[in-house]
Amino acid sequence: MKNKEFKAESKRLLDLMINSIYTNKEIFLREVISNASDAMDKLHYRSLTDDKISIKKSDLKIRVDIDKEARTITVEDKGCGMTEEELDKNLGTIARSGSFAFKEENEKKKDIDIIGQFGVGFYSAFMVSDIVTVESKSIDSDKAFRWTSKGVDGYSIEECEKEDVGTRVILHIKEDSEEENYSKFLENYNIQDIIKKYSDYIRYPIEMQVEKSRKKEGSEEWETYYELETINSMVPLWKKSKKVIKDEEYDNFYMNKFHDYEKPLKVIHSSAEGVYTYNSLLYIPSHLPFDYYTKEYEKGLQLYSSGVLIMEKCPELIPDYFGFVKGLVDSEDLSLNISRELLQHDRGLKVIAKNIENKIKSELEDMLANDREKYEEFFKIFGTQLKFGAYSEYGINKEKLQDLLLFYSSTEKKLVTLKEYVERMKEGQKEIYYACSETVDKIDMLPQVELLKDKGFEILYFTENVDEFVVQVLREYMGKTFKNASSGSVDLDNIDEKEKLDKANEESKDMFEEMKKVLNSEVEEVRFTHRLKNHPVCLTSEGSISVEMEKTLNQMPMNEGIKAKTILEINENHEVAKKLKELFASNKEELAKYTKVLYAQARLIEGLQIENPTEISSLMCEIMCK
Ligand code: ADP
Repeated sequence: MKNKEFKAESKRLLDLMINSIYTNKEIFLREVISNASDAMDKLHYRSLTDDKISIKKSDLKIRVDIDKEARTITVEDKGCGMTEEELDKNLGTIARSGSFAFKEENEKKKDIDIIGQFGVGFYSAFMVSDIVTVESKSIDSDKAFRWTSKGVDGYSIEECEKEDVGTRVILHIKEDSEEENYSKFLENYNIQDIIKKYSDYIRYPIEMQVEKSRKKEGSEEWETYYELETINSMVPLWKKSKKVIKDEEYDNFYMNKFHDYEKPLKVIHSSAEGVYTYNSLLYIPSHLPFDYYTKEYEKGLQLYSSGVLIMEKCPELIPDYFGFVKGLVDSEDLSLNISRELLQHDRGLKVIAKNIENKIKSELEDMLANDREKYEEFFKIFGTQLKFGAYSEYGINKEKLQDLLLFYSSTEKKLVTLKEYVERMKEGQKEIYYACSETVDKIDMLPQVELLKDKGFEILYFTENVDEFVVQVLREYMGKTFKNASSGSVDLDNIDEKEKLDKANEESKDMFEEMKKVLNSEVEEVRFTHRLKNHPVCLTSEGSISVEMEKTLNQMPMNEGIKAKTILEINENHEVAKKLKELFASNKEELAKYTKVLYAQARLIEGLQIENPTEISSLMCEIMCK
């Protein structure tokens, strides 16, 4: 016999279970039964792909037995079983995704929430048991093994006798205490109720000796007798009618099946009939999966063929930009023992995938139209995914996604759609204005947006790196092109003003040349502007790469050294313009210093680095001390 200790994290979880004050302890049975069901799914699937394994369908049952005297509940399955190593690995450590969230949330209260909503698997047995025994024989082994644990101290594994492949979990129920009546879990009717409540949809029969009473023959006395009955209805949740399913059932099913500790944001349950008949049950989670941005994350839906799980994660069923959607598809029109490679080319699967994509899209559109608040909540979590979807592969999906995108509006002070923007554009406004920086507040302070705002134009604030790339691939929306408020060619002046500005620029042409030289031609051009209201300077860009994009692109390896074509613009109506002209006439050396400082200011406003901070600092002090 081998005695072992639990891994540290498992120990904590176990400790939590043993000392749990959670009132809904009955969920332990749901967890044990759902493991039994999973094990039979696994075996069934193996038998489809491995000729050496044959199973009798009628054997695929879960048996629950109660022994009041011995204070035990036994749950037995004819599933795939576990080898000695698997017993050690699977029950000695918790390796499920939820353990991550668990680590994050330390307080006791939160822990209780986790138990309730999420179950925390096999260990929940310790909420009601003081000894847990698991006897198992794997399909891959001739020997059977017994795993036993009394809780945090550790567990032992030894060889044991067991004829059939499968697993038997024996829970020794705790003695009653002042706070808790554990004996109720040994009551026959109680266990029946718990099974009906939480495990009704399990697709294998859950059998139990049901306690009944009848009059003794030829006497008035009552006697108790037992009859083997199937307790669950075995109709999978997704095959039930929407009308009879409670929200709670959808939520519990999701949390249990897809290992989430939070309820989903949205449930999409539908069935389709036609060339391909299928049921689908899809969930939009209420948070980003913690590993979403790692390469471990695999998108995909569970795939069932007539109720039999044939693939845990079928990536072909869901496009990348909806990769956060969890759920399952069950179709009668897919062959059971289809191989992975063939499945990829299966026409039926393609049609179903297309329908699912459309379904998700239309549900989101519906949410956007009818439940704006919820859509915004959704968009805050998954909006970036949709933006990447619109942008990726040179925008082949842009038309599908553009109406689902939201951007922050300078006038509405909330997220708006492109359609809303275009429909309220001012008369004569030709372009959709946007401005970029890291935060809404920073954009609000950009000198370039000042005048646009002043003239009452709505500006979309782009705070994510991907935003500007999205509009580059969109190119236009409802016939309107996009215009960066910081681009050199934003044109707000009327003809008179324009002429005045052109004239001023022409007059100071030589000065600007001189200034450009001082800056070693780091800018394309220096010129006066009227776009600034109070600010003296700003940096704008010309061409397809904006200053914001320069920042983003330079963060990527391979792309270093990409530069936007920038223009140093000086407010012609500002005092400093006059000063520059004076200096150009009288003191070129001083003009050079002013130019450097102004350029540094413009870069800093844009959030760009300056290459010579020490020089700038001394120059500023020099100017201050005059
Ligand atoms: P989860 O079921 O979410 O993975 P559990 O803590 O409930 O987490 O179970 C841990 C693992 O132990 C399971 O993933 C499975 O591999 C194994 N296991 C538990 N019960 C059984 C069983 N009855 N038959 C086969 N394997 C089982």
